[in-house]
Amino acid sequence: MSNFNSFQELLDFCRTNHCSVSEAALRYEEAYSGRNQEDILNGMRTILQQMRDTVASGIDSDEPSMSGLTGGDAKRVMAFMEQPGCFLSPIEMKMIAFGLATLEENSRMKRIVACPTAGGSGSVPAALIAVEQEKGVEPEQTLKGLIAGGLIGEITARRMFLSGSAAGCQAEVGVASGMAAGGLVEMMGGTAEQVINAAAISMQNLMGLVCDPVAGLVEVPCVVRNGLSGVQAAASATMALAGVKSFIPMDEVVEAMAAVGKLMHPSLKETAEGGLAQTKAAKAFTERFKAPKTVSEIVADATNE
Ligand code: SF4
Repeated sequence: MSNFNSFQELLDFCRTNHCSVSEAALRYEEAYSGRNQEDILNGMRTILQQMRDTVASGIDSDEPSMSGLTGGDAKRVMAFMEQPGCFLSPIEMKMIAFGLATLEENSRMKRIVACPTAGGSGSVPAALIAVEQEKGVEPEQTLKGLIAGGLIGEITARRMFLSGSAAGCQAEVGVASGMAAGGLVEMMGGTAEQVINAAAISMQNLMGLVCDPVAGLVEVPCVVRNGLSGVQAAASATMALAGVKSFIPMDEVVEAMAAVGKLMHPSLKETAEGGLAQTKAAKAFTERFKAPKTVSEIVADATNE
């Protein structure tokens, strides 16, 4: 059994064995985990259900995050869907809302599925669940999308660290959008080549994205980036399904992303010393957030609780 050290290896395996990316992923997981396919599928069903639960609670909540920096935007976007001024389709609106919802739940310290990380956890559920709901896709087909997206993340993670502190936000939201794009193509019955193409298109568009969280919290700009990345993944998947090919092969896209991560200045790698984290608004918030409280303020807070 191939262990898929590259996307080319994955593509060759799918072509030789006339199988889809999700089938290849299942065979790979079965061979290396020692679990049978039904066990693996049940585990993935549990993960997908958690994604659905997180989205459902997130779109219904206006509770602020623990810092007070974010919260309630997913609900706002869902409400705006019904307004005459809304010009996006329900599918796109849900992608935005579901991505926001997942990251808002993360900021509230609720349960989410890291995919591939907590900071990038919104893209895959946003894209897959919105399409499932709006296109009436069978849940087992959504599961195939999640499995294919998982293998894209796995192969990518062998070439680069998937963390903002190692390679910037391109390694979190960027990779997540590639997983979501490939997952969507799989879900819609695309070929292995189209799955990998979609991931390559999506990831090259977010290459170079820096990690610049305000006050070092995974909230701003993380929440809105996740709100947008499902839509960008869906656009990439649509291009791939229409026959658009990435000129740069996926393996080289990943290599380039890893190289860009190494070139990135440390101030743009989750240190909150650059980018949006150093804007006037961010600095003012950080000062308030980190300022030590006086005894009377602590007493006043406790009284208000
Ligand atoms: S900006 Fe940094 S902390 Fe926020 S999602 Fe991106 S990588 Fe994660």
